Amino acid sequence: MTVMSHNPADPRDLVLSVPALGAAGTAAAVGEARAAWPGWLAMGAAARSAALTRAAEAIEAHADELVALTVREVGKPLAEARGEVARTAAIWRYYAQAPYAPSGSVHEPAAGQGLLLTRRRPYGVAGLITPWNFPLAIPTWKAAPALAAGNTVVLKPAPEAPACALRLAELAGLPEGVLTVAPGGAEEGEALVQAADVVSFTGSTGVGRAVVEAATTRGVPVQAEMGGLNSALVLPDADLERTTAHLVSAIAGYAGQKCTATSRVIAVGQVYEPLRDALAKALAAEPAADPTEAGTVCGPVISAAARDRLAAAIDSARAAGATVLAGGATPARDGWFVEPTLLADVPADHPLRTEEFFGPVAVLLSAADQDEATALANDTRHTLAASVHTRDLDAALACADRLDAGMIRVNAPSSGVDFHLPFGGTGAASHGPREQGQAALDFFTASRTVTLLPAGQPR
Ligand code: NAD
Repeated sequence: MTVMSHNPADPRDLVLSVPALGAAGTAAAVGEARAAWPGWLAMGAAARSAALTRAAEAIEAHADELVALTVREVGKPLAEARGEVARTAAIWRYYAQAPYAPSGSVHEPAAGQGLLLTRRRPYGVAGLITPWNFPLAIPTWKAAPALAAGNTVVLKPAPEAPACALRLAELAGLPEGVLTVAPGGAEEGEALVQAADVVSFTGSTGVGRAVVEAATTRGVPVQAEMGGLNSALVLPDADLERTTAHLVSAIAGYAGQKCTATSRVIAVGQVYEPLRDALAKALAAEPAADPTEAGTVCGPVISAAARDRLAAAIDSARAAGATVLAGGATPARDGWFVEPTLLADVPADHPLRTEEFFGPVAVLLSAADQDEATALANDTRHTLAASVHTRDLDAALACADRLDAGMIRVNAPSSGVDFHLPFGGTGAASHGPREQGQAALDFFTASRTVTLLPAGQPR
């Protein structure tokens, strides 16, 4: 099989064609990573830290090239691609400090002399399976902590974005076998889950469940971050102008193709009408456009299939009585574009209210009060992030307590992540320990308890 990535803004532009590794090739890559593991671990903290720092420096030195590649391979608008590349370098730098951090703790024995130690140790080969939407940052926020903790890595990137992953690994410049990219699709992903010592997955819910089941059956640690249905709660006292700008960014930014994008806007009380009008106008002012332009917010979606799925969902909502307040069209262009879309009166059981569509489409809902708004937001089987827009700190804290979401952002778009804090969703959006920050270092290591007694201790 050949993996081919195309430019979503101009599908005639073939970005990369590369042979898939196949199941046997992926298993062999894991074997090579396992052979490289003792050497990587034996290098020690200082050398591992220096290697991760050099990776950050190489990414910074090639930032313009990586930005252009990200725009071209996954259609990410220029400003967001710049942000992703800068964040990618920052994550390598952040985890470059981790090899020096404490790797355990010291305790008194319950009785007698001696010491009890805990010590965190790497597993061996980390198998990483990643989606296309953050083609540099997600591979990095898995690989950098895994490597810092002393594992070696085999990365299976999404077939839509192999060029970004291969260039990232090349620039990282780590010793042979320490960070290997395995281009491919489901076959290579499954082979990786069957061979790795620890598995970290990000992608859609269905695939994530299968990965969790396979890894659990093998008895290897696994984490999975999957799709989410994220709500924004707009309270009556919200700053309408700022809130509207945040919502445009969370709905239309990168064509809504972020796991933290807002797909449901819940307006509380009398803010419904002014918000409806302001948001519809603001979304209409950000039409889907060329991602290479500096001011573009909404670029193309990843594929013709994604565009067609979104168009069909909008049409079926319309047929079910929904009102199109903004967008609703798929422009007839060469690239795969969907206009930023806002819908009202979408029936409660319509898939646009119950499933993740991963596009620049949101439904507007109304709630009589904060209780109804949080109940509406929580009425889903999977949430990653939520946002609350209000000037009232008490209300914000109450919502933060009651919203069933992994990340709650007050007066900010739902779509934003700080990589030094735990990241993950609730319900079907997430399985296993959190990603990012210290949580990632914990995930990629196992704790061992060591009892040290004086050799001459009497019985
Ligand atoms: P996807 O599930 O189609 O693919 C993800 C990865 O899994 C790819 O590398 C793919 O090749 C691989 N894969 C496919 N079948 C496999 C199998 N049977 N076994 C092992 N691996 C397999 O997802 P996608 O379209 O690349 O990405 C979009 C999805 O990712 C959305 O649902 C989005 O919400 C989710 N996502 C979640 C987060 C998060 O942190 N929660 C972040 C980004 C994206």
